[in-house]
Amino acid sequence: MNLNSFMPVKLMTGAGCVRSGAKELAKLGKVCLIVTGKSSAKVSGALQDVTDTLDSNGQSWLLFDAIGQNPRLTDCMTASEKAIAAGADFILGIGGGSALDAAKCIAVLAANPGMTQAQLYAFDWKIPPLKIVAVGTTAGTGSEVTKVSVITTPDGRKKSFHHEAIFPALSLGDPTYTMSLSPMVTRATAVDVLAHCAESFFSRSANHISRCYAVEGIRLLLPVFRMMAEHGCETLDYDAREKLYCASIYGGLAINVTGTCFPHTMGYLLTETFGIPHGTACAVFQRDFYEYNKTVVPELAAEYLERIGCSEEEYFCLLEKLTPPCEVTMDEDLIAASHDRWIGNGSIQKCQGQFTADMADEVLRRKFPAN
Ligand code: NAP
Ligand code: FE
Repeated sequence: MNLNSFMPVKLMTGAGCVRSGAKELAKLGKVCLIVTGKSSAKVSGALQDVTDTLDSNGQSWLLFDAIGQNPRLTDCMTASEKAIAAGADFILGIGGGSALDAAKCIAVLAANPGMTQAQLYAFDWKIPPLKIVAVGTTAGTGSEVTKVSVITTPDGRKKSFHHEAIFPALSLGDPTYTMSLSPMVTRATAVDVLAHCAESFFSRSANHISRCYAVEGIRLLLPVFRMMAEHGCETLDYDAREKLYCASIYGGLAINVTGTCFPHTMGYLLTETFGIPHGTACAVFQRDFYEYNKTVVPELAAEYLERIGCSEEEYFCLLEKLTPPCEVTMDEDLIAASHDRWIGNGSIQKCQGQFTADMADEVLRRKFPAN
């Protein structure tokens, strides 16, 4: 039985964990660059908790609050210059996957002044990244516990890099912060959790431990999904938000071992081309992904449903009800132009059987007909 895995993050979760994690924060250095999006760190209350804690520790901080969704490399470069000028010892990201992934990228760039995009993606890192802290505000990506950063490069493509040096040193996960998520972002990020768990479960790289994470993640999600499908997201209380948040951590732990499969890779195309939010873009392919696996590895598909405790019919129904709308069309030119990106792609090669570029074209044609 294979349990191979590595996850060196000091993880503290639960209501009030930022303030109660003060001693852990104090170990990371004197000067902190805080990295956030425009508003979520403020409206969620996380920024106040973080700055109060740093202040009470006598640590100085400065704020870079211009990270957008699908964070851009150019913004990370600007932030890294701020970190260098201030002599930052560590980078603390507050937000969803976008701010957390940006913090990881900035930590690499700030340790290596003048680093180019080519050097970043070639792991030509002369000096190890600054220490990273993650304070999550979505129940979605699980970036809090992964060695992955997904950044949009100047050509408009989402490109990830994976490296053990970008695991956060510390992750402080207080589900209270997710209470301010809008219903639409709640849904888009929650279905991303399902995508991580499902893609990890069926990955060729899955092992016993990653499947335990994936199954546990979905088992936490499903009761909340049933509530969301029946009553909407407005009624989610702290308990439900905590389940979603913990599920997102399990999803992160799972993909940390396995990576993702074709829905994530194909989802990037929807985000890059049409601006579809990440979770939605990956979730729209989940039914196709399950059906593909049912054809290629029927016994594993049956085991999946049995272990998560869900019928096929209910699984499809929840996916349909919870995945936010994705009303786009794709013409043959776009499908042809994307064909080559499916060839030799690492996530696609993680699929069971052989998911070919022609199959990817077919999925796009069927789902987003141009008329
Ligand atoms: P996000 O892009 O971080 O945030 C989506 C939106 O939600 C933003 O407008 C954000 O506002 C807002 N928001 C976040 N938290 C909020 C809160 N508590 N209250 C109110 N609004 C809030 O969304 P995400 O789905 O978490 O992250 C997606 C990114 O993560 C993508 O780039 C994806 O590729 C990446 N990703 C990374 C990994 C990994 O392992 N590293 C895995 C999967 C996906 P602000 O702009 O004000 O922050
Ligand atoms: Fe994702």
